[in-house]
Amino acid sequence: MTKILIATKNDHKVDEFKSMLEPFGYEVLSLNDLSEEFDIVEDGKTFEENAYIKAKTIYDKLHIPVISDDSGFCIKYFNDYPGIYSARFRQDDSYEVKNQFLLDELDDVKERDCKYVCVICYIDTNGEAHYYRGECHGMVSEKMCGDNGFGYDPIFYYPPFEKTMAELPMDVKNSISHRHLALEKLMEDLGND
Ligand code: IMP
Repeated sequence: MTKILIATKNDHKVDEFKSMLEPFGYEVLSLNDLSEEFDIVEDGKTFEENAYIKAKTIYDKLHIPVISDDSGFCIKYFNDYPGIYSARFRQDDSYEVKNQFLLDELDDVKERDCKYVCVICYIDTNGEAHYYRGECHGMVSEKMCGDNGFGYDPIFYYPPFEKTMAELPMDVKNSISHRHLALEKLMEDLGND
């Protein structure tokens, strides 16, 4: 069985990757299965660079295939900010405070396009990097709505369902998410190996 390591400690992500990869015969490991701690400095300027930094740091130590992802919330009016800084944006504030801050900054602004982006970097057995990008497009809502999901979901309005991401059941959000779209592209590629 081919071992593949998911460069995360987030159980939710590990489960999502496992459910997709195990049927293809991969043994899926995560950082939770390793005793070693990795000091990873995500100082890239793009989602691709950050995903690569994470995957490469681990590949260089373990020499087994590694998958990492980097994601974020991009607001067009702010030139895609917070983007790669989504996790670090106003880090000491709760998401309720952050989301309200963004809504206030966008008060009276007509241009409300936004997107979630996820880039997966897969480093194969030969050390070659492959990238898969998923994007989910929406609008910044006028106010926060919904209690599901996490992060920026209460202000991410998804026009096809006329709801914010935080109003959607988790399985529905997961089926249209940026992460799912990127993962589907990865699976297409791995299935063709
Ligand atoms: P990471 O790639 O898991 O580190 O995610 C980066 C950050 O992007 C998260 O901490 C959130 O702030 C934001 N983010 C990524 N995906 C989502 C999502 O599906 N909903 C809400 N926020 C998200």
